[in-house]
Amino acid sequence: MKKLTIFLIIISILFVSCNKQSRSEGKLVITAVNFPSYDAARAVAGDSADIRMLLPCGAESHSFEPTPDDIKRIMASDLFIYTGGESEEWVNYILKDLDSKVKVFSLMDAAYEVLEEAETLSGHDHDHDHECTCGHEHNHDHEHNHECCGHDHNHDHEHNHECCGHDHDHDHEHSHECCGHDHKHEHSHECCGHDHDHEHNHECCGHEHDHEHEHEHELDEHVWTSPRNERSIITELCKVLVEIDSANKAIYEKNAESYIKEIDEIDKAFRAVVDNASTKTLVIADRYPIMYFAIEYDLEVFAAFPGCAHETEANANTVAALIDLVKERGIKVILHMELSNTMLAKVISDETGAKALEFNSAHNVTKRQFDAGLTWTQIMRSNVDVLKEALD
Ligand SMILES: [Zn+2]
Repeated sequence: MKKLTIFLIIISILFVSCNKQSRSEGKLVITAVNFPSYDAARAVAGDSADIRMLLPCGAESHSFEPTPDDIKRIMASDLFIYTGGESEEWVNYILKDLDSKVKVFSLMDAAYEVLEEAETLSGHDHDHDHECTCGHEHNHDHEHNHECCGHDHNHDHEHNHECCGHDHDHDHEHSHECCGHDHKHEHSHECCGHDHDHEHNHECCGHEHDHEHEHEHELDEHVWTSPRNERSIITELCKVLVEIDSANKAIYEKNAESYIKEIDEIDKAFRAVVDNASTKTLVIADRYPIMYFAIEYDLEVFAAFPGCAHETEANANTVAALIDLVKERGIKVILHMELSNTMLAKVISDETGAKALEFNSAHNVTKRQFDAGLTWTQIMRSNVDVLKEALD
């Protein structure tokens, strides 16, 4: 709280002293909070923009807070890109008073779908019960209304995975009214129980929440881990860039088209791996930021921690349960995420003989990777190989 107070003071000082800078060298100024935001901007804008990632390379993205210089940079930007999740609460304080000339883009708003965070290993037993082998029926009831300066959401979604057939019925409605986005989301899990009725109301940026929850769940912010979501993010970002810089329309559209082509190839490659796999179970001895990915490819996942939980030391029961699972199912490969301490993976690997491999959720990259220009598509291509080995 103390930190927040200081932070707010810094912001008010900045509002008094900060003058909006003009575009540098005629280039669009884009500020992205984390790597997925930065990558999307780079993919679509390329050299036409001066793009900066605020999150330091290699840093933990969920505990990131901006420096006064970062805030100045955001305020002097033509476009500010952030994820839109719970871990970026500080963004709300900035958005409240941000100059209307700064266009704001949230990955979660642009994503094809946004879902609740999955639970941990034990949570899977009731939340994602794949016991009937036939797959999953999902029907969530979700409503999001961000009124005033926020975004109104109206999604209508239906997912039906019937008896291995993976039939999907998507009813999708996106209405973007005013400057916001209207989404209505409907999801329910039948069969395995767990019907969720959620209501969220964020009024006037005030972050007021009216939750009607059977379970308290946060929305999972790692939308970029699914190629389908990434495709949608690139498409929407291209529209926004064309809107604010129509002179470079052709460049943005060409860049977006070529990135989407790569995304589609990656999607096909993942599908081919899953179609030819001997198992559809992944064991993650780490956090679980790849829920969207797992749902997209209909994978059964057992992970040590939900989402990007702050804790990275598993309790004895979780460790024991994961070890039992690996032994019982004869799992040969377990996964850990990038920039992880890999402690838990080592323990389980030593105990079971399973090989530990890194699956990169593209949260952040190392300085060396950043300097080498590593892209989301390159990361995902390496994940294709990892997935192949893990599901073999
Ligand atoms: Zn995360």
